[in-house]
Amino acid sequence: MIKVFNPADGSVVGEAPELSDAEVQAAVDRTCEAFPAWSRRLAKERGDLLRRWFELVRDDRRAFAEIMVKENGKCLTEALGEIDYGLGFVEWYAEEAKRVYGDTIPSHALNAQVLVTKEPVGPTAAITPWNFPFMMITRKVATALAAGCTMIIKPSEETPLTAYKLLDYARKAGIPEGVFEMVTGNPKAIGEAFTNEPRIQKISFTGSTNVGKLLARNSADSLKKMTLELGGNAPFIVFDDVDLDIAVQGLVSAKLRNSGQVCISPNRVYVQSGVYEPFIEKLRDAVAKIRIDQGLQDEFVVGPLINQSGLNKVIALVKDATDKGARVVLGGELAEQGGLFYKPTILADTTDDMQLASTEIFGPVFAMYRFDSEDEVVARANDSEYGLVAYAYTRDLGRAFRLSRNIEAGMVILNSGSVGTASVPFGGIKQSGYGREGSYYGIEEYVHVKYVLMAGL
Ligand code: ADP
Repeated sequence: MIKVFNPADGSVVGEAPELSDAEVQAAVDRTCEAFPAWSRRLAKERGDLLRRWFELVRDDRRAFAEIMVKENGKCLTEALGEIDYGLGFVEWYAEEAKRVYGDTIPSHALNAQVLVTKEPVGPTAAITPWNFPFMMITRKVATALAAGCTMIIKPSEETPLTAYKLLDYARKAGIPEGVFEMVTGNPKAIGEAFTNEPRIQKISFTGSTNVGKLLARNSADSLKKMTLELGGNAPFIVFDDVDLDIAVQGLVSAKLRNSGQVCISPNRVYVQSGVYEPFIEKLRDAVAKIRIDQGLQDEFVVGPLINQSGLNKVIALVKDATDKGARVVLGGELAEQGGLFYKPTILADTTDDMQLASTEIFGPVFAMYRFDSEDEVVARANDSEYGLVAYAYTRDLGRAFRLSRNIEAGMVILNSGSVGTASVPFGGIKQSGYGREGSYYGIEEYVHVKYVLMAGL
């Protein structure tokens, strides 16, 4: 059995099965064998089952949220927010199942018709991380099932309790064995069981760039389709023409979500020189008001980091920055609670040579860089191997459009700190991966295009 720990106090909150290779293979087999029947069900029937799953989970969202607080450390408000976000995908794809439209193309031959249909790719597999234990699963499973694919999921072994509860509710909703399967155990062995299985046609992965590349490499022989949502290094750019209070609010909510352990978390905050110091003062005032605590309460609080290695990374990045001349405006040390709690931290005068400029911090650390011109900041924002999301605050319409064109990222968010919802395409470019989740683009990842020529009519 895999023990699951509460990052807030180290207590054991539950356990998950540690499956043998044979048990994993049996679940893979069920996923593959269920595909033909599932893909032939009416789209409406598949949608109805997803809808039922959505309703059952929604009616019990508080119970899900409490488990998430215990195994992930995020506070209740955030857990409930994640559930609404995650359920949005189930609701959306329950509808979208019926809208996987094809096409007709004017024929190139006499007495013929050209049809284009969208067919489910086949049995699929997914591997998900711990930072969104609920949404990462619903986002992938709902899309796959709506398209007519079956899916086997390996959730993170740090947060399997939310995952198995979701599976349980899926069964209650009538989603059969094989159509949605779940396995936990040795990540490497399970990853290989997925990539080595020729019947699995597609893998969707969210996690680190290294593991994503490993899965892509191991899937090369069987040429699986891939969706990879990998690391990020999001720039957050504040120009001097904006209301600083509004920009501070957007930054704080984006950065402190899940204690900064989010791939779209602002990693590099660029503030234009003229407003640099006043912006930092306002940011300090806003962040200083936020409490640090375990999350089982109704107020937004900053929780612990997920584990010791996550905490060590944050400590090392802050040390490297301060050694190289960064100024600690707030925090910069462990919180009074001890354990895995780290104080929300603001570092001013950070520079591009510091490790945190090129590394995903994954902690509650605001790294504040100064810039002068638009051209300069765009070049610095793009000077990253990653390209997931970029945020910018400006009231200049021309500049806003220029930024949306010139910034290298899968997502550009202007004048807001909020990115995701079911109706938009989420995903990155460069080392942040490829493929999109959410919206009608998301379903394209689970279908292939079939051209049918009907000649001799
Ligand atoms: P993070 O740093 O966010 O934990 P990981 O990429 O290590 O990122 O983890 C994301 C998911 O990938 C988790 O479910 C984890 O168990 C899984 N994972 C880690 N290593 C491997 C591997 N070698 N093969 C398959 N999955 C893996």
